[in-house]
Amino acid sequence: MKILKIDHLGIAVSSIDEKKNFWTDALGLTFEGTETVEAQKVTTAFLPVGESEVELLESTADDGPVAKYIEKKGEGIQHVAFRVENIDEALEELKAKGIQLIDQTPRQGAGGARIAFLHPKATSGVLVELCERK
Ligand code: ZN
Repeated sequence: MKILKIDHLGIAVSSIDEKKNFWTDALGLTFEGTETVEAQKVTTAFLPVGESEVELLESTADDGPVAKYIEKKGEGIQHVAFRVENIDEALEELKAKGIQLIDQTPRQGAGGARIAFLHPKATSGVLVELCERK
């Protein structure tokens, strides 16, 4: 498996509209709009930071994973995403190593990326996302 870089940090917020000002006004990052991924009950906003990005995550439903995260832990870093060269190969390799996965096969993420989550039990409590972008 080849990890290319930290692709983005996923940050759970109660409201992108209400919380984005810190990232744009205080830190000077560029807000490029939002995208809703209904399958994951989330609206995302990617703000580029050099070679990586901050991904703000707002739940679209009370039972979505981001809503549940905020309910349990409050707002904050929800996941770390590594960009891989080939996500299919990466998942096969991790399975072969006995790493517990949430996604056995890649799913569609925001921005046309193919993504998969590893189980926090396998990663010292960090929700790790692998993502492949063309
Ligand atoms: Zn993400």
